[in-house]
Amino acid sequence: MASNGHTENTASMKRNKSFTELLGDNLTFDVKAEVFLDGHVKSMDQYNQMHKQSVEDPESFWTKIANQFYWKEKWSGKFMEYNFDVRKGDIFIKFMEGGKTNICYNVLDRVAQETPDKIAFYWEGNDPANCKTYTYKQLLDEVCKFSNVLKSKGLKKGDRVALYMPMIIELVVAMLACARIGIIHSIVFAGFSADSLAERLKDGDCSLLITADYSVRGDKSIDLKTVADNALKECGEDGVDIKMCIVVKNSSAEGDGTHSPKQKKAKTSVSWNEDVDLWWHDLMTGASNDCQCEWMDAEDPLFILYTSGSTGKPKGVLHTTAGYMLYAATTFKYSFDYHEGEVYWCTADIGWITGHSYIVYGPMANAATSVMFEGTPLYPDAGRMWAVVEKYKVSKFYTAPTAIRMLMKFSDDFVKKYDRSSLKVLGTVGEPINPEAWLWYYKIVGEERCSIVDTFWQTETGGHVIGGMPGATMMKPGSASFPFFGAVPVIMDEDGKEKEGVEVDQGYLVFKQPWPGLMRTLYGNHSRYQAAYFERFPGYYCAGDGAYRDKDGYYWITGRIDDLMNVSGHLLSTAQVESAIVEHSSISEAAVVGYPHPVKGTGIYCFVTPKNGIRFCDALVSELKQKVRTRIGPIATPDVIHEAPGLPKTRSGKIMRRILRKIAAGQTDIGDTTTLADSTVVDKLFTNRPQQ
Ligand code: ATP
Ligand code: MG
Repeated sequence: MASNGHTENTASMKRNKSFTELLGDNLTFDVKAEVFLDGHVKSMDQYNQMHKQSVEDPESFWTKIANQFYWKEKWSGKFMEYNFDVRKGDIFIKFMEGGKTNICYNVLDRVAQETPDKIAFYWEGNDPANCKTYTYKQLLDEVCKFSNVLKSKGLKKGDRVALYMPMIIELVVAMLACARIGIIHSIVFAGFSADSLAERLKDGDCSLLITADYSVRGDKSIDLKTVADNALKECGEDGVDIKMCIVVKNSSAEGDGTHSPKQKKAKTSVSWNEDVDLWWHDLMTGASNDCQCEWMDAEDPLFILYTSGSTGKPKGVLHTTAGYMLYAATTFKYSFDYHEGEVYWCTADIGWITGHSYIVYGPMANAATSVMFEGTPLYPDAGRMWAVVEKYKVSKFYTAPTAIRMLMKFSDDFVKKYDRSSLKVLGTVGEPINPEAWLWYYKIVGEERCSIVDTFWQTETGGHVIGGMPGATMMKPGSASFPFFGAVPVIMDEDGKEKEGVEVDQGYLVFKQPWPGLMRTLYGNHSRYQAAYFERFPGYYCAGDGAYRDKDGYYWITGRIDDLMNVSGHLLSTAQVESAIVEHSSISEAAVVGYPHPVKGTGIYCFVTPKNGIRFCDALVSELKQKVRTRIGPIATPDVIHEAPGLPKTRSGKIMRRILRKIAAGQTDIGDTTTLADSTVVDKLFTNRPQQ
């Protein structure tokens, strides 16, 4: 049957809405006002007024914030200039042209001068017995020393340096040292394979790689140096000669009696190439802790970071200096309602944008004290997160739905056994959070006292673009709520028309004008940048996600555009079907994709992971189908339910639906899998495909 066109689509969206109403749209939670008496934003009126100013008069809104930073020279050109319309010429975005500043100076020197002993990071090792503190002054000394090391090796402004490192303080030191002297850092998550690392080294044309001998996570030890060696070899074979590799001797990986025998054994030697490799500690010995900053133009590049690769070849997103600095600082302050003296913890890895903006630049720009965590949520047991919260009296906590869903599988006792009374704000990022997980986070972790902020954003956006204001925004589980300052989201229909009115059906999420943190290009590939983000809807930045707006103006992200399914002419979102499935008490996780169906055009194919100890059987399959029918409607009844002991995920924990679509369609060529965290799960899915 062919698509039935627009009318039917709208009707189906209404049906979808009634599902969300049952579960979500009308389910609102107020925050405990007494927890947020001193909130930066005290009411929705205040938020609305601030948001209005930020989009109607960006210059005065951001200038007030920019004045809190140090500028070697104030900008002389226009505050904001851009072209979002490919029909009018090349896309460009510029903020504060002519201004000169340095982000390292702003986030580090200034705090170290005023409060040298303030703790920048409580570093918590993989091994709970292993922890250290770093003050702003200590960090500044290390950063200056390493900047001098980089200079002594001939590196200069504009060069690219890749960092492939575990969550150790040297990673922060290296990135800030790059920023200090104008080197563009390109951080590659240390869980990536040699192929993925090589691909990123080549794409960024990097002249130096910084790595560590080992990284430890849970009871595993990863030999990073060997991966780095293999990546450098691959680069050499392709004519990209990287002549230097600086290696940190990772002391947290030095078995200290608490490591497993397997880990200790792994750490006896490290491969070494005298022509290329240099030990970090040798270079740092005797380096001076006095290093002037390089004053950077507002639009000078700060870093390259590759998107996590859920949808194909990763894109080298380029962020520049001043706009990113303002945006990371401001989003951090308001989304987490951060106040002087509070302890903040973001569990992401610095290898992702979340770590860039919300472990390093954003918190430090607010002179925050953060926890930096080397380990994993399940080591030594499923209570680790909450043990760390108790230990440091964490007040603002930021994690991903994938981590929440994983921890929910275990007994709530792992949470309850620790004191969480310090917590005030619980953030989430990375994927739509299903209401089940939201409620667990709110009730069990936050004791119904904390504000949950669901932050929607992307590597490309530099910082949060949709998310609530703790203390002011009523919460709706599953909705990221309202736009952040500077962002003007719009929901587009298929034909490029803005959907008008407050309440609108699902469409494409696009943005009408830039905010300071939006990326400026894809490194070395401006035409791919224009094609990927600006050609589909000329005049708008197209995020690539679907969304709708409810009657109260809340934004609901429904997943990637690629994940919308056109079933017998009805547009359904995979996230909605998944939410219905995981409501079933036997299921811990689900991923839904469309597949070619002879009658419907697209059929609904569901991969489900039963909870520990639950047997997958026909009765369960019928119950799941029934659950979706009653929640969404008969149109959404799953065609196939496939038991998935594990789901293919990116190394940042996102489900890779691109691969699941291939499996569902019965195709064996699944394409690039280098960004996959564990490729064995794919083999398992091929072997237990159900009969159709
Ligand atoms: P690639 O672009 O290479 O496929 P990626 O999109 O996973 O990778 P990121 O930039 O890390 O890389 O992730 C941004 C995407 O994550 C968003 O476009 C959206 O799909 C999803 N996302 C992030 N936060 C949220 C959220 N709060 N709610 C819903 N979706 C979210
Ligand atoms: Mg993306």
